Amino acid sequence: MKLLKDKVIEEGIVLSNNVLKVDSFLNHQMDPELMKEVGREFTRRFEGERITKVLTIESSGIAPGIMTALELGVPMIFARKHKSLTLKDNIFVEKVYSFTKQETNEITVSKKFLEAGDRVLIVDDFLANGEAAFGLARIVEQAGAEVVGIGIVIEKAFQPGGKLLAEAGYRVESLVRVASLEEGKVTFANEV
Ligand code: 5GP
Repeated sequence: MKLLKDKVIEEGIVLSNNVLKVDSFLNHQMDPELMKEVGREFTRRFEGERITKVLTIESSGIAPGIMTALELGVPMIFARKHKSLTLKDNIFVEKVYSFTKQETNEITVSKKFLEAGDRVLIVDDFLANGEAAFGLARIVEQAGAEVVGIGIVIEKAFQPGGKLLAEAGYRVESLVRVASLEEGKVTFANEV
C-alpha cells in the first residue's frame, strides 16, 4: 500500500533494530484519512469472504479496526488489556505477552459479543512475534467462532509472527512488510 509506505518513510522513527515508532499517524496521533484507506484496503483484500465481526486489541488496533468494520458494515470489538470493573463475568480471557511493554497481559472480551457462527477478521497495527494475533485468534476459537483472516497494518517480516501464523493455517494480509530496521533505516520486504 503505497500511501502507507510513504507515510512510514516520511514519519516512521526507527527506535532500535526491532522497534518502529509511528506515533504521528497510528500509535498516538492518528491519521483518519489514512485509516480510512487502511479499512478500504483490508475490505478489498478480504472481498468475497463473509465476515460478521472485526476483532482488535486496544489501543492502537482500534483505529484501523473501526475503519475496516465501517467499510465492511459489521461491528468491531476490541479486546481489553486491563480488567474492567464492568467486565467481570462471562468473559473470554487469554494471556498475551506484550512485545512493546515486555509484560504479560490478560486480554478479555465479553462473551456477549462473540458467538459460535461468527466469522471474524482480526485486525492489528503491528505484527512482530504474533503474540497478540494468536491471543485474539484463541479468543475467537474459545467462542466457537471462526477466524477468516488477520489484517496487519505493519508487519515486521524479520520477526517470526507472520510465518508462525501462516504455519498455523491463518491467512495473514499485511499492508506493508518491513524487512529490516537495521542502521536506523526502514527497508521494505519487496526491496530486498
Ligand atoms: P506481537 O504480539 O506480534 O509480538 O507484537 C504486536 C503488538 O506489539 C502490536 O499490538 C503492537 O502494539 C506492538 N508492537 C510490536 N512491534 C511494534 C513496533 O515495532 N512498533 C510499535 N509501535 N508497536 C509494536
